[in-house]
Amino acid sequence: MRTTEQTLAETPGTGIDACYVGDRAAERLAQFARAHCGTSCLVVSDENTRAVGGEQVLRALCDAGIRVTEKRYGGGPIDASQELGDEVAEAGAALDFFAAIGGGTLCDLAKHAGTKLERPAVLYPTAAAMNGYTSGIVAIKVRGLKRTVPCTPARAVFADPEVVATAPQRMLAAGVGDYLSKCSASADWRTAHFLREEYYDETALRFYDGVLDEVLGAVEAIGRAEPEAVALVLEALLLSGLSMLVAGSSAPASGGEHLISHYLDMKHALYGTAADLHGTQVGVATVHCLRLWEQVLELEPASLDIDALVAAQPSREAARAWIEEDWGPVAAEVHGQWNEKRLPREALRAELERFVRGIDGLRPSLLGDLLPSAVVADAIRKAGGPAEPEGLEASIEEYRNALARARFIRNRFTVLDLTAELGLA
Ligand SMILES: [Zn+2]
Repeated sequence: MRTTEQTLAETPGTGIDACYVGDRAAERLAQFARAHCGTSCLVVSDENTRAVGGEQVLRALCDAGIRVTEKRYGGGPIDASQELGDEVAEAGAALDFFAAIGGGTLCDLAKHAGTKLERPAVLYPTAAAMNGYTSGIVAIKVRGLKRTVPCTPARAVFADPEVVATAPQRMLAAGVGDYLSKCSASADWRTAHFLREEYYDETALRFYDGVLDEVLGAVEAIGRAEPEAVALVLEALLLSGLSMLVAGSSAPASGGEHLISHYLDMKHALYGTAADLHGTQVGVATVHCLRLWEQVLELEPASLDIDALVAAQPSREAARAWIEEDWGPVAAEVHGQWNEKRLPREALRAELERFVRGIDGLRPSLLGDLLPSAVVADAIRKAGGPAEPEGLEASIEEYRNALARARFIRNRFTVLDLTAELGLA
């Protein structure tokens, strides 16, 4: 299969020098670090990640002649915040580079610290639950709200599937959900380009097409956490992160389904309502968005009553009231995002007319982006995760709110906007 290493070789300038998924990943990480990053390092881990893969990495770093200082968190969940990232940066201020042993949160702390001090960060993922390892963004709390903040990508990522296979099955299924979200996200992106002339780069999507079939063909083995199948999920996620890096935007892997997940995370941060793993939420929301896309593609464009659709759109005041109700102390900021996307009535009419004229021409490409919702739901279930909201460990009430209102939280145009405009949602 196509590997991240091959893709890196063909897409120079990403800032990532090496990606490796396979055995002896700890030794390879240490050799790479010794050759490219320096002779002293701060290793970030927590009790769990250190126990599963950390010892091998620490030993390999020492064997390579690298002086190691450790920053180890406890076993409970930690939230990546700017303060915590700054704390990591401070702990490593006198050292040459940062190394993270862990999942998305710990790796984001190392990326944040590396970016802040302009030092390399190398990552040793212990879970395959999301696609951020190769991305140029960190998901980090700034003044209490989770944001995606641009960062320098990690210099290298080394993952051992045998180690990652020991993570809880639900995390691996979350990774499958985060990866498969590219289907609805890329259709959203294509449509945003068509309707709103947003920047679009097809090459960012196409370089990992073949991986999709392999993942779908391996879902049962993924469900058993067989190391070869785990390696496949890791590669798919690394390539997915890389697609965002190549595009210079998260759009190829983050559409309406991600807005639904972010809505749940923001409610969690603000009001303490339950939220689940990013990829688990994204997987469930991807199934929803693919169902929306199925409705869109079944529409008979000529039958649309554009006057009635324009008249049915929420007024400025109604949207403002919903945003106030949802976001209280941060409503002004959310409102700013919505205002960047909201169209006045005449522009909305023009957009709907453009949709009616263009959808038949766009349909074949959209069908190339999309997968049937039933296929994605089945894949997530077989991988060991929920495909329906009832299976989430998040607030079901907030999930339902998100379906209608997540589109207000970000200026990105997605299928949530399209179906609202078309009167389908
Ligand atoms: Zn994601």
